[in-house]
This record gives sequence, C-alpha cells and structure tokens, in this order.
Amino acid sequence: MALWQRFFQRIKQTGRNALSNSPLTPGVVPGRLPAETIARNFGDHEAPLDAHEARVAADRCYFCHDAPCMTACPTGIDIPLFIRQIATGTPEAAAKTILGQNILGGMCARVCPTETLCEEVCVREVAEGKPVEIGRLQRFATDTLMAKGVHPFTRGAATGRKVAVVGAGPAGLAAAHRLAMKGHDVVIFDARPKAGGLNEYGIAQYKSTNDFAQAEVEWLLKIGGITIKTGVALGAGVTLAELQASHDAVFLGMGLAGVNALRAPGEDMAGVRPAVDFIAELRQAKDKSVLPIGRDVVVIGGGMTAVDAAVQSRLLGAQNVTIVYRRGQEKMSASGYEQEHATSAGVRIVTNASPVAVHQAGSALEVEFAYTVDGPDGMKPTGETFRLRADQVFKAIGQTLSGAPEGLALAGGKIAVTGAGRTSVPGVWAGGDCAAGGEDLTVTAVAEGRDAAEDIHAALMARQ
Ligand SMILES: Cc1cc2nc3c(=O)[nH]c(=O)nc-3n(C[C@H](O)[C@H](O)[C@H](O)COP(=O)(O)OP(=O)(O)OC[C@H]3O[C@@H](n4cnc5c(N)ncnc54)[C@H](O)[C@@H]3O)c2cc1C
Ligand code: SF4
Repeated sequence: MALWQRFFQRIKQTGRNALSNSPLTPGVVPGRLPAETIARNFGDHEAPLDAHEARVAADRCYFCHDAPCMTACPTGIDIPLFIRQIATGTPEAAAKTILGQNILGGMCARVCPTETLCEEVCVREVAEGKPVEIGRLQRFATDTLMAKGVHPFTRGAATGRKVAVVGAGPAGLAAAHRLAMKGHDVVIFDARPKAGGLNEYGIAQYKSTNDFAQAEVEWLLKIGGITIKTGVALGAGVTLAELQASHDAVFLGMGLAGVNALRAPGEDMAGVRPAVDFIAELRQAKDKSVLPIGRDVVVIGGGMTAVDAAVQSRLLGAQNVTIVYRRGQEKMSASGYEQEHATSAGVRIVTNASPVAVHQAGSALEVEFAYTVDGPDGMKPTGETFRLRADQVFKAIGQTLSGAPEGLALAGGKIAVTGAGRTSVPGVWAGGDCAAGGEDLTVTAVAEGRDAAEDIHAALMARQ
C-alpha cells in the first residue's frame, strides 16, 4: 500500500479529520496521536496497589533476618518491618518506617530501579524469579499516609543556626528536611522556577503522574523551618562567599546542570538538542498533545536518559525511534529491564555505533555513525559507516557539573567529598549527583543529603 493510502487509512481508523497529523506526517509536528491516546500513554505506567492487593503482596514476604533487600537499599529502609506493618493493616506506620530513612520515599517508590536494588536480591526473586513487590508496597504505604495530609515528624527545638542549601532536588530536599527536623533554619536556593530538581524536570512523566513532585515538596515542607527561594542561582544571583557569610553551614546539592557534547560536526544544527531539555519541556507541558515530535527520532546514548527520551518520543507518536549506543549492549548503563521497556515501546536499539557527523538532508537531518568493536585496547571504529535519517536528534551522553564555585576541589569532574559529604572547603558540604562517588540515582541523592545533614548537625552542635 502506498504511503498516502496508509496515511488516509490511519486517519479513517482514528476517526480524525484530514487536518490532523499522524505518526507518518513528515517533519516535527504535534498531535501525531489522538489527544486521549497521548494522555493515556503518559498516565501511571504501573497502577498503584489497592489495600487488598497490598495485603496479598505483603504476605509473600518471608520477613528475613539480615534481609538482603534492606542491605541493597541505599537509604537502608527496614523493608521487612514496613512490609509486616502493611501485612498487619497499619500502612501509616509502614510509611513512617520508610520516611524516617528516606523522606522522598514516595518518589523513590515510583522511580527506583528496584530491579537492580532491593528486588534483585529479594530471596523470592532468587528462588522463584518473582520478587516481593517492594517498590509498589512502598508506594502503597507512602501514598496512604500522604493522602491524609499529615506529616509524621516534628521539628526539634530551635537551635538558632542557619544552613543554606543550594539545589532543591532530592539531595537538597533530603538535607533540608533532616536539618529542619534538628531545629536548624534552612534556606534552599534553586536556579529553576520550581523546586524538585530532576523529580520535577527529569524523571519520565509516566513514572511521576498527577504533579506528584510538587505535591511531595509541599508535603515535605510541612516540617516547618524551610524557606525555598527559586530563580536564584549560585554563581549568578548569589555567591558561595555570601552564603558562607550569612549562614553557619552550606550544603551543595546542585546536580549536574551541564551536558556532554557529541564532539561531532553538525551537532549545532537545528533539530539536535540535549535529551534532558526535551524531557524537561515534556514534563512541564500540561497538554502533551501540543508538543511537536519528529517522525524519525535518533537518540544517542545508553543510559536511563536515552531510554526515557526514546520511550516518550514513541508515546508522543514518533514513528521511528532509534537509540544508538557506541559500545556493546552489555555496557549500556540502562538496565536490562529498561532496555526491554524501550524495545517493548517500539524503540530500536543499535549498539556498537559511534556518531561521526550530523548532515543536512533536505528538510531533515542524517546522523552518520561509525560501527565500532570493543576490544582489549578499548573501542575502535571498524571503518564502516552508516546513516540514519532524523527529524530530531537527542543527545543523551551524560550530564556534567556546571557552575561549581571556584576553590572547591574536584574529583572526576564532580565535587570531591570525604566522609558524609565534606568538601575541601570547611563549612561546605555536598551530596547527590554533583558530588563524587555514588550512583546517580534519586535514592542515592536522598541518602547523601540526609547523611550530610547529620554531619552538619554534629559539626554545628560541636561548635557551641
Ligand atoms: C532524564 C533523567 C531521568 C532519570 N530517571 C531516573 C529514575 O527513573 N530513577 C532514578 O533513581 N534516577 C533517575 N535519574 C537520576 C536522578 O534524577 C538524579 O540522580 C537525582 O535527581 C539527583 O538529585 P540531585 O538533588 O543531586 O540533583 P538534581 O535533581 O539535578 O537537583 C539539582 C537542583 O539544583 C539546581 N541547581 C543547579 N545548579 C544550580 C545553581 N548554580 N544554583 C542554584 N541551584 C542550582 C537545579 O535547578 C536542581 O533543582 C534520572 C536522571 C535524568 C537526567
Ligand atoms: S528479601 Fe524479600 S522476602 Fe526477604 S525480607 Fe526482603 S522483601 Fe521480604
């Protein structure tokens, strides 16, 4: 069947008028799928458990002694305890167990790659290939408590100490909450218009629906003693020296605001952009059906960001979406689960191909790749090249630290820290993605923010 015949058949099938777009419409256009399909595509990708389902899921737990799931959790949540609390019909108590260790337990329940953390080591997974659904149970408990609008912690007596936190992402929010609990006054400065960091601007939409990131920030602030100043950037609106002069301690949780370059000719052409910018725009769009997306989309990279950009392009109706990764599949930082998620959404994954150049090809682009082999001496081009047509090219080859204050020692391009986030500058701590060490995950950022806050508290109290 000719292209135009398929196009009109599709319009007939979807009952839309001839002015509408379809996945086959050339170029970068909005509304490739009916608005209701797009809205459905970006709904919760995993339905929450109801009370009965949660009891059944909790009953599968063996409540192991020395539970491996607990050791695998970067925030060290007592998983068997909270699951037992759900099993005995006290989800609010379960939530308090979770939130005591991880104040963003609600978001982590949605976004944690549990398949490579707690659920991977669950004895039920090891024995039967089906773990206890720890993530979904955590969501059930935290959602139950948050739906009641209560905050389970109270603020300690005021210490009169002031702490500045740079960045309102998971690391900054976790640090701020723990510091506020200890009775310190906290001011968070964030460059963006909204708090939440990548919870608000980065995480895939279908993992965090119904404006959950903002709801969680509002709920977290109920502890009191935290002020958030948005639209204030360290380095532009305020300097580290000013923060040090006006506060007793500073915590840096500024994430990785820069992006790596492809270092290939043509990467500045219109149509080539960082995947994180595309995702941020998508997250902020109330109506996703007005977002323009290409018919042919090429995503360069091999991590979670590449997968999220590719899957969400498909959910907007892009016809051909290809992830291209320069090394072998086993080296992709996206987990097997995420890779499967991408392919089941219709994304093609091409490995061992490295970008060489971006070319203009009529009104579209062509990305030229060189095939590679991984050998004992590293990655080498085979000498063969190929081209992929693209209306849009998303670069997802990693984020970099940007705007770190001068004078701080760096390690591997991030802020060097020792112990619980102590930087090379006395009185300044750092945690989350901007700090060296640890995986770049929401849960790791929360753990580092919390631990740095404990260390800041100990240092401030020792000064009395
Ligand atoms: C597209 C994408 C998808 C992801 N998906 C997942 C996932 O599904 N699961 C998971 O566990 N992890 C995921 N991650 C990783 C996770 O989001 C991060 O590890 C986590 O958000 C790090 O938290 P953070 O607080 O260190 O930094 P961020 O969340 O980046 O927050 C940093 C904050 O600092 C602010 N800031 C930056 N510079 C300045 C400045 N100069 N002055 C003031 N404020 C500043 C920023 O505006 C931001 O609000 C994803 C990351 C990306 C990019
Ligand atoms: S490892 Fe699995 S079965 Fe054991 S306590 Fe953790 S969740 Fe329960």
